Amino acid sequence: MNAYLNRVLEVVKKRNHSEPVFLQAVSEVLNTLEPVINAHPDVEELNLLERMCEPERQLIFRVVWADDQGKVHVNRGFRIGFNSSLGPYKGGLRFHPSVNIGIIKFLAFEQIFKNSLTGLLIGGGKGGSDFDPKGKSDAEVMRFCQSFMTELHHHIGDRTDVPAGDIGVGAREIGYLFGHYKRLTQRFESGVITGKDVGMGGSMARKEATGYGAVYFAREMLAEREETLGGKRCVVSGSGNVAIYAIQKLNQLGATVVACSDSGGSVFDENGIDLDVIKWLKEIERKRLSEYPSVAGKGEYRPDQKVWDVSCDCAFPCATQNELEKEDAEFLIKNDCQLISEGANMPCTPEAVELFKEHGVLFGPGKAANAGGVAVSGLEMQQNAGLESWSFEEVDKHLQLIMKSIHTKCREFAGCYDQPDNYQLGANIAGFMRVAEATKRHGH
Ligand code: NDP
Repeated sequence: MNAYLNRVLEVVKKRNHSEPVFLQAVSEVLNTLEPVINAHPDVEELNLLERMCEPERQLIFRVVWADDQGKVHVNRGFRIGFNSSLGPYKGGLRFHPSVNIGIIKFLAFEQIFKNSLTGLLIGGGKGGSDFDPKGKSDAEVMRFCQSFMTELHHHIGDRTDVPAGDIGVGAREIGYLFGHYKRLTQRFESGVITGKDVGMGGSMARKEATGYGAVYFAREMLAEREETLGGKRCVVSGSGNVAIYAIQKLNQLGATVVACSDSGGSVFDENGIDLDVIKWLKEIERKRLSEYPSVAGKGEYRPDQKVWDVSCDCAFPCATQNELEKEDAEFLIKNDCQLISEGANMPCTPEAVELFKEHGVLFGPGKAANAGGVAVSGLEMQQNAGLESWSFEEVDKHLQLIMKSIHTKCREFAGCYDQPDNYQLGANIAGFMRVAEATKRHGH
């Protein structure tokens, strides 16, 4: 690694020594930027990299709420505005017991480059809490969201910072958050949060966008090898928002999804997962995947097992960070898997990614492959600003064009360094260059 990159990495390690996932995300990007640093000496002269690795602002706050028995609980809330060179901070909120400042910082850092790749005018941010919505009543989730927003509303706005959903934050949570923002500010400012229900100013196709986008990206990668998704056998990890709509689009394009999972285990169904059952279990009843065989009347539940040992042509990690490790990659390669498209953020460990690249497996990194969600959030902001409401088909058409353009950008930028199939290199360089140019012009 070049001396400047090393220096920056050392500073970042010193400042964030207790945040391994953030350091992993920074190393992943810096490790690919050497050719850019060599070709653009002003990156070092203006110290653009160190600036990009230090958040512009970080907020930590206490969230106090009462459960249905009146017992008082204390959680921690976070919001990081990482980079506003391209526009207002934009990125979701994650509610999960594993959340801490390092997780939010990693997600916000990824978001800078992802948002840049969409070509829209949105900066990078992220937030969340260690609150666990699982097993809570609607009233408890509402009281938590209201308490969370009581602090957060001071710091967000349609021109400042625009949150959305992520793990544990779906339409229900967004509704409570937006409803409380409206009460606190006495303003129906719909552009302040995205992922809203269509009835309260949300965009059609937002809930589908991340999963659909990851599949559209896979379709583009396969097209480079003159192949299609039709007839492909696929596995998808997770069974939340991203996973469900990845499965739906794969089914529509003629692929068969034979396995999916949640944090308790996975379901294998040779003739194809019954998506209606998954949607009923997860979107309506909020139940565990272990109930799939009894509800669907078919399939096998595999407690504590991931999906990666199931033979497949294409794999879509859509659950969480570092869920696909080296040994999982070895299984996939042994079984002749030819494509990975990351619906989740950083789901593959660096060792797994290296193995995929070594073995010529097409690898679509999350920054590019899952950018469809934030892209449609950007379109939601655009519709809210213009008091418009576009049809499902119109939004989906925009989404497909954006995913195609991200794919093209990745190949073009990686192609400049003679590695057009290296989507990781292309995504990092293309994402970085647009933010670097904007930061330079801002002069801060
Ligand atoms: P959901 O909460 O809807 O679903 C998450 C799924 O992943 C669930 O099946 C959950 O299982 C599983 N999961 C979560 N944490 C873990 C864990 N620690 N170990 C194993 N499984 C786990 O979240 P989303 O679908 O919205 O998000 C999934 C991924 O996609 C995340 O990485 C997110 O950052 C990323 N993403 C999401 C976008 C969006 O628009 N929603 C946009 C871009 C990226 P269980 O229910 O058992 O916890």
